[in-house]
Amino acid sequence: MNRIVVGGASLAGLRACESLRTGGYTGTITLIGAEPHEPYDRPPLSKALLKGDWEPERVQLRKPAEIEGLGLDMRLGMVATAFDAASRVVTLQTGEAIAGDGVIIATGSAPRPLAGQPDLDGVVMLRTLDDSLDLRRRLADRPKVVVIGAGFIGLEVAATAAQTGCSVTVLEFAPAPMMRGLGAEMGEVVARVHDRNGVSVRCGVEVTDILGDDRVTGVVAGGEKYDADVVVVGVGVSPATQWLADSGLELRDGIVCNDSLCAAPGVYAAGDCARWVNNLFGEAGEEMRIEHWTNAAEQGAAAAANLLSDFAGVDPIPYAPVPFFWSDQFDSRIQFVGRAHGDDDVRVVMGDLDGKFVALYGHGGRLRGVLGVSLPRMVMPYRKLLVERASWDDAIRHAEEVAQRT
Ligand SMILES: Cc1cc2nc3c(=O)[nH]c(=O)nc-3n(C[C@H](O)[C@H](O)[C@H](O)COP(=O)(O)OP(=O)(O)OC[C@H]3O[C@@H](n4cnc5c(N)ncnc54)[C@H](O)[C@@H]3O)c2cc1C
Repeated sequence: MNRIVVGGASLAGLRACESLRTGGYTGTITLIGAEPHEPYDRPPLSKALLKGDWEPERVQLRKPAEIEGLGLDMRLGMVATAFDAASRVVTLQTGEAIAGDGVIIATGSAPRPLAGQPDLDGVVMLRTLDDSLDLRRRLADRPKVVVIGAGFIGLEVAATAAQTGCSVTVLEFAPAPMMRGLGAEMGEVVARVHDRNGVSVRCGVEVTDILGDDRVTGVVAGGEKYDADVVVVGVGVSPATQWLADSGLELRDGIVCNDSLCAAPGVYAAGDCARWVNNLFGEAGEEMRIEHWTNAAEQGAAAAANLLSDFAGVDPIPYAPVPFFWSDQFDSRIQFVGRAHGDDDVRVVMGDLDGKFVALYGHGGRLRGVLGVSLPRMVMPYRKLLVERASWDDAIRHAEEVAQRT
């Protein structure tokens, strides 16, 4: 192979490039990234960088010399506008067409605006380094902040804004925060963390209007008006796949891949934009798309390794990880390993809900996920049980043994 094209120069794209080189690929790697920056880390954008504790240099994923060592044909500040899966040709905004013997798509995701979201000064969304620095400047004036959406990014912004001295209200349509990631019962527990720290979290309210002329002045939700100088819209992300509309790839809330991350011959996908079949879950595998750091890193490396296997005539390895994410809100470090569904049984097996604790999530007699709050060493050991598809009873027994030992 003479050239591999990697679309998206962030976590999954960078890990793909590194995995290609460690896998022995010596040909050209063209890495295309829409942002002008070298690959950087997003988690600090709602935490240490937003708070002002870190400066932008600290979020770089690799030192300049490490990037240079990869010997990339790097095209930053360059948007890929089209792709043809049959010929594996990527077209750039300049009209340049680049053909790859292999292509890895890692264009991530982008914040979803509200329907009819007005274009007012002070209404912002958070995804990029530039978004974070802009919001940080706004928070410095201690504005009244309304966060729309109590998902994990919205709640992290709320916590950081409160810690920088802003008054903060979070408005959420669902009955509890973080419903998708944690379910209702544990979502309530997260709401209490915010409550204790002075953030007002209003759930079960629908935002019907964002007010202002040039600048935002408030939000109407559930029939009430909330004054606001800054409104952060954090209602979720969509996979960045618009540029693939005519590519011939199957798109369904992400790029549809098989269990080895292959979307079409010689075309692989990784990170927030990839939808694939994880054989570790469900009877015949579960289709999933994950919007978290650990998956983007591992999947980028796996997609690249599978592309190289493919071209070497070796069977690619199915990508079947146990999903994991973390979120830092005030002093709470939330960690979740596995999958949560709305209908899970949830059992607290260690600690207490108003401090540090571990809770198991199970369904159909099997362990499905484990939540830990501020007990970092207690969560990852359950990964092994999830890989083994442990029964609910075995998981409870394990938890009891751990509790006895500690
Ligand atoms: C504020 C914030 C905080 C987070 N905190 C956590 C956390 O605490 N824990 C956790 O587990 N996860 C967290 N995440 C999620 C995690 O950062 C993402 O899952 C991860 O960044 C996904 O990596 P990716 O490479 O798939 O996509 P992205 O990081 O989205 O990168 C995709 C890149 O592709 C570029 N791109 C898109 N379209 C094109 C195109 N057409 N042409 C060229 N380039 C293109 C984009 O500009 C972008 O740079 C956070 C995310 C954000 C935004």
